[in-house]
Amino acid sequence: MDDCIFCKIINGEIPSVKVYEDDRVFAFEDINPIRDGHTLIIPKSHAENIWEMSAEDMAAVAKAARKLAGAIRKALDPAGIACLQLNGRAVNQLVMHYHLHLIPQKEDDPELTMTAWKLVAGDMDRIGKTGEKIAAAVS
Ligand code: 5GP
Ligand code: ZN
Repeated sequence: MDDCIFCKIINGEIPSVKVYEDDRVFAFEDINPIRDGHTLIIPKSHAENIWEMSAEDMAAVAKAARKLAGAIRKALDPAGIACLQLNGRAVNQLVMHYHLHLIPQKEDDPELTMTAWKLVAGDMDRIGKTGEKIAAAVS
């Protein structure tokens, strides 16, 4: 897609620190890393979000995530890795080309805000009704 910065990164028009590539995916270091080793995995075929992703590209991203999580562990020895993926402006997706963040976290790093939400017990009736709606919509 012409005006997509991640498509430009894939075709080399914008430079990037590439860490992995195969026939379906491209992976590179985030330019505003939350932590050292903050890595993005993207499909080579432009898709804006999870709803536009093909099953094959989803599987390829998942496979690459497994491979790169192993590489990050070997290279940086983090205590954990957060895998984060945003869909839509409402959840602060900034680049409208699907991307999975891999964010390594060391033992003494400050807590990642997105992994530290407060657990508040839900209303089981509401949870059940919402679950029923979703289950009925699965195709
Ligand atoms: P989002 O909020 O859409 O999930 O995150 C987009 C991510 O892309 C951000 O973490 C941002 O730092 C990263 N990013 C945006 N533009 C560029 C770029 O030109 N190069 C690289 N390497 N990362 C970028
Ligand atoms: Zn794109």
